[in-house]
Amino acid sequence: MKIICIGRNYVEHTKELKNPVPEKPVFFMKPDTALLQKNNPFFYPEFSTNIHYETELVLKISRNGRHIEEKFARKYFDEIGIGIDFTARDIQAECKKKGLPWEIAKAFDQAAPVGKFLPKTDFPDLDNINFQLKINGEVRQTGNSNDMIFSFDNIIAYLSKFITLKTGDLIFTGTPGGVGPTAINDHFEAFIEDEKLLEFNVK
Ligand code: MG
Repeated sequence: MKIICIGRNYVEHTKELKNPVPEKPVFFMKPDTALLQKNNPFFYPEFSTNIHYETELVLKISRNGRHIEEKFARKYFDEIGIGIDFTARDIQAECKKKGLPWEIAKAFDQAAPVGKFLPKTDFPDLDNINFQLKINGEVRQTGNSNDMIFSFDNIIAYLSKFITLKTGDLIFTGTPGGVGPTAINDHFEAFIEDEKLLEFNVK
């Protein structure tokens, strides 16, 4: 399986990182070795001093497809979850300055914690899904899928022009504003609406 991540998909987040609002989805990938599951701890890597959290809704692809039309996009995912797109912001800043790819800052081991998934049918309106991150009991990020620049359907149609989507692939759909640094001993809890779907410690 592969993990495809959308960058700069919420206006507030593009502003906080001083990036322009994109005209087309920006995407990058993480390998399957970046997955962190079952609420296992995240080990703060020694190569960075500024690991940031980005809380994102995650789609699970349920059938293979390429060149998917937007109007059929919803047939290609059946579950929605929440994940953290961990980013070594210090390393990413250096890459950006030099015009280099970001993989080193995004694709490292454990850089993609994901929680429990919910069936798509649990959601009466996919364009109105609230989600939230708490760290040490304090709300750090809140988002709503309605604020995405590119909707789930836009994303699937766009990505599948370039990359065949396969059953089991995950798509991180971008972070709202409020990203920030994490530290050893932080306790993460991520929610969709009122349901806690992901919880882990930083060690
Ligand atoms: Mg992100």
